[in-house]
Amino acid sequence: PSRSDITYFGAGPALLPTDVLEEAAKALLNYHDTGLGIAEHSHRSQLAADVINQAKADLASCLDIPDDYEILFMHGGGTGQFSATAYNLVGAWVTRKQQEISGGIQGDPTDPKATQQLKEAVDNNLKIDYLITGGWSQKAAAEGERLFGSEHVNIAADSRETNGGKFGTIPDESTWKLSKDAALVYFCSNETVDGVEFPAFPKSLLPGPDGKGPIVVADMSSNILTQKISVENFSAIFFGAQKNLGPAGITVVVIKRSFLPPITSQPSARLMRQLGLPIPPIIFQYETIAKNNSLYNTLSIFDVYIIGQVLAKLLRTYPDKVEGQQAMSDKKARLVYDAIDAFPEIYKVIPSKAVRSRVNICFRVTKGDDIEAAERAFLEEGIAQGLTGLKGHRSLGGIRASNYNSVPLEGAEKLAKFIRAFATS
Ligand code: PLP
Repeated sequence: PSRSDITYFGAGPALLPTDVLEEAAKALLNYHDTGLGIAEHSHRSQLAADVINQAKADLASCLDIPDDYEILFMHGGGTGQFSATAYNLVGAWVTRKQQEISGGIQGDPTDPKATQQLKEAVDNNLKIDYLITGGWSQKAAAEGERLFGSEHVNIAADSRETNGGKFGTIPDESTWKLSKDAALVYFCSNETVDGVEFPAFPKSLLPGPDGKGPIVVADMSSNILTQKISVENFSAIFFGAQKNLGPAGITVVVIKRSFLPPITSQPSARLMRQLGLPIPPIIFQYETIAKNNSLYNTLSIFDVYIIGQVLAKLLRTYPDKVEGQQAMSDKKARLVYDAIDAFPEIYKVIPSKAVRSRVNICFRVTKGDDIEAAERAFLEEGIAQGLTGLKGHRSLGGIRASNYNSVPLEGAEKLAKFIRAFATS
């Protein structure tokens, strides 16, 4: 089939806009009449800096990122950020404790008593909190434990505990066991595999009347740019580019600058070793990446260029930016869920209704006695109509329709129509 014959609903890497790819094909051969392609220009060139700075400016514009946040383009995927978030925010926590103990003196405490006090604070109070609501937050928590030990990890909630060992819900906030002074509270705002999305920012993670709140880190790999968010509620957000922004290869981190120097400089490697804590590989150290405008080492400027083109297109398409995109995402999701819900005998959405993802729509086809045969037939007939990438994740089975930004409205309409037609066939 040709590209225009299919609508692809794969979970990632996702479909990219055809017009962006057509322009990119030209840019790969000859960028801005330089005779050299975008992937061949030096990452140290002005041209590369322009690509990075424009992409940052457009992302900030799309998401209303406040001025006191830094945007980093990093390597290592979402998985790399499972490690990086823990390393960096534990580093920031240690620095805060060090300042409390040593009266704001930067650098290593020279007084052995102060170091001892810091070691006690680490041993007794250092916690990383995780909310486990699906496979991806579970992986992040496992990495936190691998790096820092289970004594420093607090599973503040785990949806499997109240849902028969399965994901598909978000535990009521009143049951969350948050630590008092956690280095970070981590959650995944959209669980790509399980089809679970936080319907709103959790109330218990909002700042109190004194303006102080927990240090919140969110994995938004699969729902970034599909909804309006209040960036100021987060200390850090990260997302791989490969769902809503561009090809795989770049991970974006949006982090409040107060977690970077000069306010909270990372503790030295020597001090962390004295405290028995790990230090990040240099490539995962946020302050190093920030200081170098994401060019500490060779970054794929081609990938950033595509991200920039996708963002520019979003801004051209929707004058009210991500709000406009959200209205479209919501509309597409509603079309598909309405079609599924119209046939409760034939389809069953896997997660519970209150936490259904607008982005990864996971359901079973319960038509007839043999579910697997029904799902096979659904997938085969879908492919015959140009609806591809619908097979569910191996851990969950069933069908998963990923409704990322590049899936056009007509694609969602076509899928909804097919869901209805299959049910009555
Ligand atoms: N977090 C979420 C929500 C994801 O969907 C994914 C990948 O699909 C990841 C993290 C892992 O990202 P990566 O494969 O880039 O390491």
